[in-house]
Amino acid sequence: MKTKPKRGVLKYIIILFFIFFVVFVTFNNINQKNLLCEDCNLIIIGIDTLRADHLGYYNYERNITTLNNLAENSYVFKNTITQASWTLPSFMSLFTSTYPHQHKIINKFYINDEGEIETSNLKILSPGIVTLTEILKQEGYKTGGFTGDAGVCSEFGFSEGFDYYYDKDIFGGFNKSFTLAELWISKNKNHKFFAFIHGYDCHGEFELDYEKRLFSKDSNFIYNGTMEEEIALREKGLEEGYLNLSKNDLTFWKNLYDDKIVNMDNHLSNFIQYLKDEELMNKTILVIVSDHGDEFLEHGKIDHGATLYDELLKVVFMIKLPNDNKRVIEEQVRLIDVMPTVLDLLNIKTESNLKKQIQGISLQPLMKGKSLFLDAFSETDYRMFVSKKSLRTHNGWKLIVDSLSNSAEIYDLTNDPHETNNLITSKRDKYNELKKKLIFYSNTELDLDLLTDNIIHLNSEEFKKFKLIESFELKEKTLYNFIKNNEYLKIEKTKNINEETAKKLINNDIIQIKALFSSSLSPYPGEISNEIECADEFKPILFKTEIGDDELQYLTTYSNDRFGIGVCSKDLIKFRYLIGWIYCPKMRELYKIRYFIPLEENYEKLKEFFINIRCDN
Ligand SMILES: [Zn+2]
Repeated sequence: MKTKPKRGVLKYIIILFFIFFVVFVTFNNINQKNLLCEDCNLIIIGIDTLRADHLGYYNYERNITTLNNLAENSYVFKNTITQASWTLPSFMSLFTSTYPHQHKIINKFYINDEGEIETSNLKILSPGIVTLTEILKQEGYKTGGFTGDAGVCSEFGFSEGFDYYYDKDIFGGFNKSFTLAELWISKNKNHKFFAFIHGYDCHGEFELDYEKRLFSKDSNFIYNGTMEEEIALREKGLEEGYLNLSKNDLTFWKNLYDDKIVNMDNHLSNFIQYLKDEELMNKTILVIVSDHGDEFLEHGKIDHGATLYDELLKVVFMIKLPNDNKRVIEEQVRLIDVMPTVLDLLNIKTESNLKKQIQGISLQPLMKGKSLFLDAFSETDYRMFVSKKSLRTHNGWKLIVDSLSNSAEIYDLTNDPHETNNLITSKRDKYNELKKKLIFYSNTELDLDLLTDNIIHLNSEEFKKFKLIESFELKEKTLYNFIKNNEYLKIEKTKNINEETAKKLINNDIIQIKALFSSSLSPYPGEISNEIECADEFKPILFKTEIGDDELQYLTTYSNDRFGIGVCSKDLIKFRYLIGWIYCPKMRELYKIRYFIPLEENYEKLKEFFINIRCDN
């Protein structure tokens, strides 16, 4: 028997359902719709050389008032990674959502087809690439750029799409940029506009008046903080690889940097006040961003551009929307994500060819509390001193590859955020995994072969021409596969082994190989069993060579296309093959080397290659 609910209860349920529905719809609207700011103005403030960790959201002890206040009412991307550690390529990546090797503005100069040196320019080097400004102009925006010149000057292509672009003061500051921007905005504010406002105030080559200093005024300091002093220290670090400064001197430069940040912040404060006075905050998306950090001997240098450590890669990025919606986003994002994010917030749809160009992704999902798990690729080709690439994974691993010194570094950022413990020798599997990702993002064949310097203690000029393609970690051994054109090199390293044991292993190997070629019965029983005999021409030839105190043993024979040994049939032979052993007593390492060359190549090459290899210590 059913009992009917009483009328009062039913009414109560309907009201509850209605309230739930209203709350659900409202909440959903806030989540989905309020982020869009169609036809809003866009202002991007590019603060050159500002480290993220000198702001309040990193619990920095010094108060950078305006930026800290803005951060409290904005979407703050706490872990934003720049795609380059110096101005030119970094801002170009921001403006195009492409990696430096794609927009090709990786250096101030390039060599043209006639071999002449010319100034790098986006429209010459990458004519197909469209800038954020060009898109906004096409969407009917008035566009104005107000910059400190140098790395963002119009010559490189930054002025593309701008109705007005100021770049007359080399290493100019916000004092000028904000003043000019305010004049321009006042004239254009009745129309939707995009303003890019940039200043070098935090940069080493920006000189801060003595009376504007707070922390670097102490008379104990021997430095004055001039541009010349800063440049001299930067160059010394670049030339010598490592700079020595006393604790007191380092304190001075850090204090001066903070003085510059405070000075910049005061200019920003006035500009924010201007926007409020002009009632522009309620119809403008304000983006605050920096292009790279600055280093203070964390890794032996001063300034920026030369490395890809986090003191340079972690930049400031926050978005202030007209409503005061806010969120601190811990997940890693990239500067290439700025362009697709602002286009998305302005509800500007990108055409298919632009979709192909854009390497970043709209961060709206993160702003709504979702996850994206982004990896960050960065690179720097700085003034002929440096050619580096890095890959920073969303889960805290980082690979840095230096193509000039042919070395690599791996850091576990979760446990080693300051990148002090390079795990390249102990984390081979991680290296292989990160290397694949790095190659994917850099879209280029990387010369990572010479990383053998770190992993194999063998030396010879010919050996260095090979490229490491993979390695396998076994219990007591590591296997490495190398390639050079159509030649293959396979090296097996046995670690922690004494000389006596090494000799035993070598002899065992030789006995086993000889056994492979001895005449034997085929494995078929009874009458169909035949004796198999390997013709002499296919049998291995064993050599012993005395070089100084070392005795090298090796043998040459043939191999099939699967690098197998013991091939006695012409049909199956694909390579000439050498197998040899070298014991390195100091490292207590035994190397078994197998070298394969195509049949048509000179046999002598194998022997020559092998007897020129030495232990490198
Ligand atoms: Zn810069």
